Amino acid sequence: MIPLDFTPVSTLMTISRRLAEYGWLPATSGNLSLKAPDTSVWITRSGADKQVLAAEDILHMSPSGMILAGQGKPSFETAIHLAIYQVTDATAVFHVHTVANNLIARYGTHGTVTLGPHEMVKALDHWEETAQLHLPVLPNLLDMDQLARRIVDRLDPKVPGILLENHGIYVFGRSPALALRYLEAWEFLFRWTLESRLHDALDRLLLLNNRI
Ligand SMILES: [Zn+2]
Repeated sequence: MIPLDFTPVSTLMTISRRLAEYGWLPATSGNLSLKAPDTSVWITRSGADKQVLAAEDILHMSPSGMILAGQGKPSFETAIHLAIYQVTDATAVFHVHTVANNLIARYGTHGTVTLGPHEMVKALDHWEETAQLHLPVLPNLLDMDQLARRIVDRLDPKVPGILLENHGIYVFGRSPALALRYLEAWEFLFRWTLESRLHDALDRLLLLNNRI
C-alpha cells in the first residue's frame, strides 16, 4: 500500500523548480524520477520545461518501462533510471547537465574523478577527515540500453553518483531529500575543484611573471 505522505507529482514539481532555478536543467534537458513503494516509477516526460513542470509532464510507469498513466513520451533516458532502481536501494534518481559537471569529467583518470578532501564530502555521507571520493566517469553513448548496462556495472554503492562525459551526472538516493542533498554536494565539489585549479594556475602564472 502506498503511504499517504507519498506525493510523487508535487515532490517532482518542487524539486524540478528548485534545480531549474539553479540553471541545472537548461533547454528542457535533464530528467527526474521517484520510485514508489510498490516499485512503480514516476518520471518527467521528454521535452518538458523543468522550470514550469506541470502534473501532466510526469508519467507513471511500471518497473519494466510500461506507461501506467500519463500522456506523451517518457524521458529518453528512462532506461537508465529503471536500471539504477533495479540494482540499488534508491527511491530517487536525478539527472542534470551543468557546465561544471561536464568540465570536471575531463579531469577523470582511469575512469574516475577524485574529489576532496573537503568539508562538503560529509554531505555525501563520508565522515573521515581526509576522505576523498572517486566518482565513476563513463563515455557517453546514444544507445540508452547499452549505456544503462554500463552504468549499472560501474555503480559504487558508497558513491551516490556517476558522470557521463560531455553529458551530465546521475545522482541517486534512498529518499528524494537525500538525492537532492547529494546532487547539491556534488555540484559544489565540482565548482570548488574547478575554481581551485583555475586559481592555482593563475598563481603559477603570476609567480612566473614575478607579479606576486
Ligand atoms: Zn541527459
